[in-house]
Amino acid sequence: MPTTPIASFGRDYLAIPGPSVIPDAVLRAMHRAAPNIYAGELIDLTASLVPDLKAVARTQGDVAMYIGNGHAAWEAALANTIQPGDTVLVPATGRFGIGWGEMAAGLGAEVETLDFGKRAPMDMDRIAETLRADKAHKIKAVLAVHVDTSTSIRNDIAALRATLDAVEHPALLMADCIASLGCDVFEMDAWGVDVMVAGCQKGLMVPPGMCFVFFNAKAAAVRTAMPRVSCYWDWQPRANPEEFYMYWNGTAPTHHLYGLRAALDMLHGEGVEAVWKRHALLARAIWAACDAWGQAGPLELNVADPADRSCAVTALRIGAPNGTALRDWVEQNIGLTLGIGLGMAAPGDPAWHGFFRLGHMGHVNGHMIMGLLGGIEAGLRALDIPHGSGALEAAAKVISEG
Ligand SMILES: *Cc1c(COP(=O)(O)O)cnc(C)c1O
Repeated sequence: MPTTPIASFGRDYLAIPGPSVIPDAVLRAMHRAAPNIYAGELIDLTASLVPDLKAVARTQGDVAMYIGNGHAAWEAALANTIQPGDTVLVPATGRFGIGWGEMAAGLGAEVETLDFGKRAPMDMDRIAETLRADKAHKIKAVLAVHVDTSTSIRNDIAALRATLDAVEHPALLMADCIASLGCDVFEMDAWGVDVMVAGCQKGLMVPPGMCFVFFNAKAAAVRTAMPRVSCYWDWQPRANPEEFYMYWNGTAPTHHLYGLRAALDMLHGEGVEAVWKRHALLARAIWAACDAWGQAGPLELNVADPADRSCAVTALRIGAPNGTALRDWVEQNIGLTLGIGLGMAAPGDPAWHGFFRLGHMGHVNGHMIMGLLGGIEAGLRALDIPHGSGALEAAAKVISEG
């Protein structure tokens, strides 16, 4: 008689860097009959999302909501600000920075890329040098990824603003906070960010399907000066709709709106600062465990300096084929799914199997992180991958000390 795999009991845990764990409250809020999209509850509910989204982004600016994933938010931000032939500067610290640049190129922009590799944050001196050399101010925007999910590098966006200001460069500062919003500390207005893009399926805990572009008055003026913007991507009517359908340029993402309402209630119920603190604590527990494992064996945190690490995602190196073997083992044996390594080696290159990532964004708590780490420990043992001892104790110590 075939035996049922033990992983088929209990609740599965998707610990990849997005989509993230969906809270039951969000699932419940979405489980309902189709609502009227012309009148009634949905209209007021949608209006109520706007101030609460802005409060998470820490901005008094505007927000446009779209049906789409993070890539859609990239395109939306560019479609409102960049004309064919304009130059954009991409200070890349991983696959997502490169990807935003590729999207800009596809829209006709000249893309100047400063590639800082996969293990270090942006070097502000090199960015300053590039901006200073741009005497004609051909660079219209700097496309900066706050947390690059492929490498788990967190960049200092406030320092990037200071760099632009120091050389008196007028380019728009655009930040990708798709991975970091609602996880890592981010202050759109205080840090002088002109445009910020986010998705709903990471720190905001909603199934994939909605994205957001936040923009300030300076960015709005750039949009107004554009010769044309596609009706679909235009952020003006979405941010200031005269009729409900203008939020969406068509049908609303009905059930996502209920889910997002529930998620924002959870986020603001906990408090944005408390949410950041929880993510920081759980991230430190993960790093402590990884440091212990790395004392003897191939496992290594991708980012050496804790100050440069995201609190939402952790990229790890473990040597091929250990990364894939570990992911397969925990998924098949204990119901835990870890993230693939992204952009670290080309698919098809055997080295591709030497990386994995942990998502710890959104609806996660101490016992889930201890389960995640315990599962990895079991996998390391089962596969005879050498590793240091004391990882779970180290993580428990971090969590116990709060
Ligand atoms: C997830 C992610 C994206 C892409 O989002 P999709 O929803 O997959 O299109 C872009 N940038 C960052 C930093 C991300 O984490």
